[in-house]
Parts: sequence; C-alpha cells; structure tokens
Amino acid sequence: MTLTISIDMGKACSSCGKKGATQNGLCLKCIAKRVREGRTMQVGPKVIEAMKLLCAEVIDTHAAKINQAFLKSETGKLPVGIKVNLAPHETRAETMDVKVTISYSMEKVSYDVSKAVSDTQGELPLWKG
Ligand SMILES: [Zn+2]
Repeated sequence: MTLTISIDMGKACSSCGKKGATQNGLCLKCIAKRVREGRTMQVGPKVIEAMKLLCAEVIDTHAAKINQAFLKSETGKLPVGIKVNLAPHETRAETMDVKVTISYSMEKVSYDVSKAVSDTQGELPLWKG
C-alpha cells in the first residue's frame, strides 16, 4: 500500500489556518495532533447514516423516471447505478461532504465509430509522366 500525501502550500489548513494543507484540508501538524488525540477523520455512524438517507432520497426522487426508463428499455432490463462520493469538506474541519449520484439511461444510446483502414493504401502506384 502506498500512501501519498500532497501538500498545497497555497491552501490554508482548515483547522489552524496556516498555509500548507494536505488533501483532507489539514496541515501535517494538525493531522499529527489529531492522531495523537485519537481524533482522526473517519467515516463514522453519522456519515453512514447520511449516505443511506441520501441514497433513499435520490431513489425516491427518481422513482417515476426510473419506472419510465424501465418501460422504455428494449432489453427488459435497467441497470441503475448509485455512486457515493466522500470527500473532506473544503473549509469546515472534521466535516465530510457526502455526494450521491444516480445514473440510469432514459434512452437507448448507441454510438459507433468505425473506419476502414489499410496499411498499404498509401502505397499507390506512382504515375510516371
Ligand atoms: Zn493546521
């Protein structure tokens, strides 16, 4: 396992305000402090609860459209994707942004790209004048 920590020297730490924050918004000093205190950023019960609620909400919101898409489906099947993205909040310390994305297809989309290619096509006989 490789752990990469990148430090953005232009970004202020979301806890102490000093420049030089890592991806999670905290500077290395604040991360070390939190680890010592046992207060590490984690996916706890509140985040899990938010994930569940947002998934249910997005399904409820799209219920009618999902049904329409299913009825339109030519294969008789409808893949529905739910994606949850967790990211530390930009400015608020120890806050997680929970984003849920639903994806399904309303229309049958078919897109093809093709080309007939010959490697010898460039070698046309030269015209001798
Ligand atoms: Zn800090």
